[in-house]
Amino acid sequence: MTDRLAGKTAVVTAAAQGIGRAIALAFAAEGAKVIATDINAGALAALEGTPGITPRVLDVTSPEAIAAFAAETGAPHVLANAAGFVHAGTILDCDEAAFDFSVTLNVRSMYRLIRAFLPAMVDNGGASIVNIASVASSVIAAPNRFIYGTTKAAVVGLTKSVAADFVTRGIRANCICPGTVESPSLDQRMRALGDYETARAAFISRQPMGRLGTPEEIAALALYLASDESAFMSGQALVVDGGWSNI
Ligand code: NAD
Repeated sequence: MTDRLAGKTAVVTAAAQGIGRAIALAFAAEGAKVIATDINAGALAALEGTPGITPRVLDVTSPEAIAAFAAETGAPHVLANAAGFVHAGTILDCDEAAFDFSVTLNVRSMYRLIRAFLPAMVDNGGASIVNIASVASSVIAAPNRFIYGTTKAAVVGLTKSVAADFVTRGIRANCICPGTVESPSLDQRMRALGDYETARAAFISRQPMGRLGTPEEIAALALYLASDESAFMSGQALVVDGGWSNI
């Protein structure tokens, strides 16, 4: 452990698994006091006893739960928004309910959390907001990711807007655009396609590097953005995708 986040508090959403969990662990390993939140209490329990981490159940689609959480927590120095859902299909597969679900979980949750914490973060002298978008967004399109790509492009716009409006008040906001990253939900998506090995090979082939990314590789950038090492940086969408969007 080093101390790149010593003295800082951090809130991380979707921290029970995948990228969110790796971010919570990376922040805690660098000295932050981390409130690791997720809707899945069972999976979150695995973080009990990890030094620096306090697990807490939070459904980021609930405005009441977010308001209560913000009132109880006060202003964190770092807010990492990792909650998101991948809907599969084109615009014709995306009915109104699917559209609303993805907008609410992928975008409105970030709007609500940032809005709940921002006044206190400003009063507290500033904060770094790190949102998890995707390379499937305003960067590139991925087939059959209509509402996912739409919402992740919105995350890029949301991040840039917050960064622009609060740049003089100590608030930095950046987002990360990962390519294909090993995670429990990616594994489920591969299994859902039937032939697991063929599906895995197809997901791997999207990256010219010939492999999937790891949650730790995304967490390393989140750590940089959370820390004062990136103090001169705001409003950016940073791609970590094994070269996918470069071809
Ligand atoms: P994941 O999809 O495996 O896990 C998501 C977590 O979110 C779970 O722990 C789940 O319980 C939690 N969650 C779901 N609904 C929630 C809610 N309403 N409130 C709070 N938590 C909730 O993790 P992942 O694949 O690492 O994805 C994390 C983020 O990274 C997402 O925003 C995703 O879109 C983004 N992302 C992932 C990849 C990838 O290939 N894995 C690529 C680009 C972007």
